Amino acid sequence: MMLEVGYLHIDNPIAVITSHNQPVFNNAAGLLLLDDFDLDEVPLDEMQVGLEKISQKGTGAFGLSVTCSCDEPLLEAARLASKNLCLLDLRLSKVRDPIRLLELIPRLKHCGVTLSLRIRPEDLSNALLEKLNESELDRIHLDLRGLNGAGPKMVKKAKDSRGPVIMALADIIEFEDARNLLAMGADVVSLRGADPEFAEWLSGALQEYDSLSGWCNAPKHICAGGDLRGLAFCCPPVKKCPVLAALKRAGMTPEEFMQKKLSFARGTPLEKGEGTCFGSLVWCCKISKLCYLRDAALARIGLSAKEYMELKKKLAKELLSKSSR
Ligand code: SF4
Ligand code: SF4
Repeated sequence: MMLEVGYLHIDNPIAVITSHNQPVFNNAAGLLLLDDFDLDEVPLDEMQVGLEKISQKGTGAFGLSVTCSCDEPLLEAARLASKNLCLLDLRLSKVRDPIRLLELIPRLKHCGVTLSLRIRPEDLSNALLEKLNESELDRIHLDLRGLNGAGPKMVKKAKDSRGPVIMALADIIEFEDARNLLAMGADVVSLRGADPEFAEWLSGALQEYDSLSGWCNAPKHICAGGDLRGLAFCCPPVKKCPVLAALKRAGMTPEEFMQKKLSFARGTPLEKGEGTCFGSLVWCCKISKLCYLRDAALARIGLSAKEYMELKKKLAKELLSKSSR
């Protein structure tokens, strides 16, 4: 997978956050973030040194997490980050006032920086989320630590509001924890203080999973609680089921949904699907749902499971693209 956000190229969905005082470098991570630059305490020079260290290590994408009670040091940091093509991760701790925050975002963006905001769900009201989605923020970094099972739900809420790219910081203990967040729409999962070997293993495992599955953060079906991307696996909306509520949330009528799916399928292998429930693979379920009818249809046209999922991924993107709202 390759995720392009602003000038960042992130080649796997694991970000590692490490203290800037005692950084633990990790070459396998898709993104390495140096944490805890409180610019009320830490001079900018120190950040420059941190940046040099990190870039010498030859890691992939990298970033800096900052906060400050004044704006000017943050703007300086944004210029520095932009010059070094690194992410600026703004921490809410000292930028809590929503009025200041919403004024600060365009000023920081004006420095040319790729910007993320690290925020706890309790600080993210619906009104603020809406405003952030309208802002130029490149990614929203949800700090979900300590939430136990509620993390994936928060990700789904942010994803379905169709705002910036989502990074989810959570207590990840095993592969499934990361996969659950990805399945609800996180584009990147970030780890803080994780064992470097575990982080490396997880990055590798997810990369492998992506290359085998074709869609590393594939959603669940809508009726299994998936986010709106799950519409790619929905049947024609002809009976009463959760697809109707999902379409409402997506701002689409059932007719528009039918049209969009059919016009996407035209000329692609998804158009085929003789013998499946609805005669076309565009209406078929996720590959992880066992179905010999679909698998027989795939085999007949020589489409692999991975290619099938890649097409569904494109379909989801098309269905939810803002231009086609
Ligand atoms: S349309 Fe099909 S897949 Fe979608 S929510 Fe309804 S039953 Fe589930
Ligand atoms: S044919 Fe199988 S995969 Fe396709 S819609 Fe029916 S149950 Fe789902």
